[in-house]
Amino acid sequence: MSLNMFSLEGKTAVVTGANTGLGQGICVAYAQAGANVIGVARRSCQETADKIAAFSGNFTEVIADLSDVSLIPHIVEEAGKAYGRVDILVNNAGIIKRCDAADVTMEDWDSVININEKMVFFLSQAFAKTWLADGKGGKIINIASMLSYQGGIRVPAYTASKSAVMGVTKAMANEWAGHNINVNAIAPGYMATNNTENLRKDGQRSEEILSRIPAGRWGTPEDIAGAAIFLASDAAAYVHGFTLAVDGGWLAR
Ligand code: NAD
Repeated sequence: MSLNMFSLEGKTAVVTGANTGLGQGICVAYAQAGANVIGVARRSCQETADKIAAFSGNFTEVIADLSDVSLIPHIVEEAGKAYGRVDILVNNAGIIKRCDAADVTMEDWDSVININEKMVFFLSQAFAKTWLADGKGGKIINIASMLSYQGGIRVPAYTASKSAVMGVTKAMANEWAGHNINVNAIAPGYMATNNTENLRKDGQRSEEILSRIPAGRWGTPEDIAGAAIFLASDAAAYVHGFTLAVDGGWLAR
């Protein structure tokens, strides 16, 4: 067995939500593994670009609001112009709105579902169509959550969306596995990013969460690099429809 099977040399990856947190971590990891990386984000990914430029990796950004599915053709077209054929799509962008279930508005519900669920499916569909057409396959990696497995507290729309991400990962895999398209997901545990800033500021919730993580610490963007590279690489050729938890042991508890 050669470790080359984990290399992303010569591959091109699109990563959504590339300007911060886990998306930024995945962009850096992919560039380090040899990929050309295209970051899709609402605003400039300068920090991500600088981190990748520091080791002379390849990075380009496409600015797009991922709450707007009408921008999908634009994203696919711009991504295709950057380095040629796209081989990997990481659906990382996501939002969370914390609110008692009794007070959730339909507007907030829709905004979470649009980005976390509807865009994930239709952006995947758009890239998969190009891969089905050229017959050369591809990799889709969706970012799920502990709330793909559990109910969570005060985040019902987020739980609905992330449960859907795990389900639709399997649904897409079932249809496209025979076309050399691998669709899988990563379920991060509790990671120290903007997404969990309010939780970490809440002394009681923070302590409850930390004391339940067997690894005894919050995760970091670097912690999901290995899983993200594996699922994007040739080493994962026969892995389909699976959600890989990177959670410091949270689900094992
Ligand atoms: P984050 O808030 O730093 O990152 C979210 C990213 O999504 C940002 O880059 C943001 O710009 C982007 N985004 C949000 N709305 C967008 C829009 N309309 N258009 C374009 N981009 C948009 O937090 P993160 O933790 O890095 O989150 C990344 C993913 O990981 C999300 O899907 C999140 O749900 C998931 N996740 C995070 C954790 C955690 O503990 N941090 C755990 C499980 C899953």
